[in-house]
Amino acid sequence: MLQKASEEIHRALYMKSLRKGLSRSVNRLVPAPYRILDRWRYLLGYTEEIREAKEKVLNDIDYYIDATMKMVEETKGHAYYAKTKDEAVKLVKDLVGKDKLIVKSKSMVTEELGLREELDRDNTVFETDLGELLIQFSRDKPMHTTAPAIHITREKAIMLLKRHGVKVRDNMSTMEIVGMVRLFLREKFVKADAGISGANSIAADTGSIFLVSNEGNIRNTTSLPPIHIAITGVEKIMPTMELAFKQAVTQAAYAGLYPPTYVSVISGPSSTADIEFERVYGVHGPKEVHVILYDGGRVEALKDEVISEQLYCIRCGRCQAECPIWQLVGNTWGGRVYGGPMGMGWTAIIEGIEKASSLSHFCLLCGKCREVCPMKIDMPRIIRYLKMYYFKYVK
Ligand code: SF4
Repeated sequence: MLQKASEEIHRALYMKSLRKGLSRSVNRLVPAPYRILDRWRYLLGYTEEIREAKEKVLNDIDYYIDATMKMVEETKGHAYYAKTKDEAVKLVKDLVGKDKLIVKSKSMVTEELGLREELDRDNTVFETDLGELLIQFSRDKPMHTTAPAIHITREKAIMLLKRHGVKVRDNMSTMEIVGMVRLFLREKFVKADAGISGANSIAADTGSIFLVSNEGNIRNTTSLPPIHIAITGVEKIMPTMELAFKQAVTQAAYAGLYPPTYVSVISGPSSTADIEFERVYGVHGPKEVHVILYDGGRVEALKDEVISEQLYCIRCGRCQAECPIWQLVGNTWGGRVYGGPMGMGWTAIIEGIEKASSLSHFCLLCGKCREVCPMKIDMPRIIRYLKMYYFKYVK
């Protein structure tokens, strides 16, 4: 494993296109959160509240899973708990059926499940986040948690879009390219049989899902198709709606885009009470909302005092952008889904500690990740622990 990872990273160091794409984007990505935090200083207070709330939720996870599911049902949604990847994929497949058109918004949990590939066997699936659409077309893995196509240059983006039927030309400006993608996806949104999303957070006291986006794709994905399926890791549960909002916007801020253009709050299917105040469901938005709370190793990880700290992560990707190794090779340094500093803890959670331990050796232990993390996760401690594990049990 160590040898294989080492070869991949070595190859990435010589990939001109990857290096060019990363260096162009990193120069914009790194300074953005500093400017935001300097201007909207209350966000620093939010991070402390979120960390405290996460401690509460993770210390009593069974209660919070149960409470969230009950509230989803109370708002006329359907709630499910999936312990394993197979269970989660089966749930979605059963809900969607076959030969359907599916639009999907970017979600790292669905990457964990390989959901697009699974559904694509019997259906047609389109990613609707532009970055993730480029990842779908290039059959690559996301290189950053919030900016998946950060390593793809403009030139490569045009080539990929052209190859998949988007009417772009070589000399088009970024705005013109985006206009063509808008046209390409518009028809899919309208015709889709189901929309699939993740969630930035979910409130236990109301069952509401919070989703942040800038492109507007999440609004279309979650409101135009008749069925909306949301899948989220159990660590995204927040005790209250207020804290769920704070978690969602804080993630956007630390990802470098604040204020976010859209924050969607979804509490069950669309409804009306306009005739004699009788509430009926299924109006202009989805007729059905299904919420899947996914475990996938998270609950088991709570037993490990060191690794479990990674579950405080709000997936902003700031530790990746600031990491000197990630800046060179992106998520090539990482497991199947997650890379960079946060990717070590997450790989241990979802793919096993042995795999993560082999990857840990590429870290320099400079400590920058801990300094910039909104949740103050001690990633160097997690990585030292993984290195020790490797020499004790794997080597
Ligand atoms: S570990 Fe911290 S900095 Fe990295 S993605 Fe998670 S919350 Fe953001």
